Amino acid sequence: MIEGTYDALELTLSDWEILFEALGEPKFRASQVCQWIYSKKEFNYHSMSNLSKTLREKLSNNILMSLPIMLRQQVSKDGTKKYLWSLNDGAKIESVILNHGGHKTACISSQAGCPLGCIFCRTGANGFKRNLTRGEILGQFLMMEKINGADINNVVFMGMGEPLLNEDNVFSAIRSLNDKRMRNLGARHITISTSGIVPGIKDLADFEIPIRLSLSLHAPNDELRSKLMPVNKNYPLQSLLYALRRYRERTGERITIEYALIDRVNDSPEYAYETAALLDGLEPYINLIPFNPIPSRPDLQRSEQSRIKAFCNALTELKIEFELRKERGTDIMAACGQLAGSQQ
Ligand code: SAH
Ligand code: SF4
Repeated sequence: MIEGTYDALELTLSDWEILFEALGEPKFRASQVCQWIYSKKEFNYHSMSNLSKTLREKLSNNILMSLPIMLRQQVSKDGTKKYLWSLNDGAKIESVILNHGGHKTACISSQAGCPLGCIFCRTGANGFKRNLTRGEILGQFLMMEKINGADINNVVFMGMGEPLLNEDNVFSAIRSLNDKRMRNLGARHITISTSGIVPGIKDLADFEIPIRLSLSLHAPNDELRSKLMPVNKNYPLQSLLYALRRYRERTGERITIEYALIDRVNDSPEYAYETAALLDGLEPYINLIPFNPIPSRPDLQRSEQSRIKAFCNALTELKIEFELRKERGTDIMAACGQLAGSQQ
């Protein structure tokens, strides 16, 4: 065995190949092991029946299989499930599974906490602990498939944290989800949601796997956006729009724009007009999210129905394609922006 400690989910397919080569084993053992882990969700080396007994022994003695430990599962009235996990160092994170018409979407975390402190987000209010490793990102997904005994159809990086501040690990995890010899999940079924990290959006435009991009906009001008999302001071709208246009040109992909409607903060029809002008030429698809209240900001409330309606009417008039998202999992604090990684 090569010197060092290894952890199965931290290894890419080529890492496995190098390991097996060093063991004098053929390269295809790498895809065999990855099939067990990523496809069959078999995490016990001793049950990998197409490997020799000695090889199984060697693997279990030398390669750890760290998985997130489930501390709690909550089930919402609408079938949404929320999981609280504990990681090796005791860090706690959450992930969510949403069900829609027989399809499952996993909303997974990329960081323990988040350093960006958007004023409307519960994750942001609780501070930042650290980036997740690729194995910790994949572990959430694989454990949820295992626990539910069913395949998950879509993955969205909309749990805790800013995925484009943990780019290497997030991209590495996505490569393994997408690889035919690993989880074989289609690129169109993977979405990164970002608060607008410009260098990360540039990298995503050049990423070899054409995954989808969601941009959390929430305000169409720098003054208001910087108040709601301090990250806007580092990457103001002009630079952000430049990166989004470049992404659109390079990939041909339509970008989804997330816009949470907060009562009397960003929900007047004027903001709809300003949003349309800002995004002119980008052909965006807008997801309107009814704001989910968080304990630390009782002053921020969900927009009144009449205001939501007026905002929608303005977008319709402007011929902007949009969807008003149904709220999901709010009864168990599993909706957008409500994840905290704590027992409360
Ligand atoms: N950090 C990334 C991804 C995680 S947040 C991002 O900001 O995009 C996932 C989504 O939830 C984002 O669109 C975010 O803006 C939104 N969100 C955060 N807090 C929210 C809240 N209280 N109500 C509604 N949406 C919220
Ligand atoms: Fe971080 Fe996204 Fe929450 Fe902002 S909305 S604090 S970027 S997780």
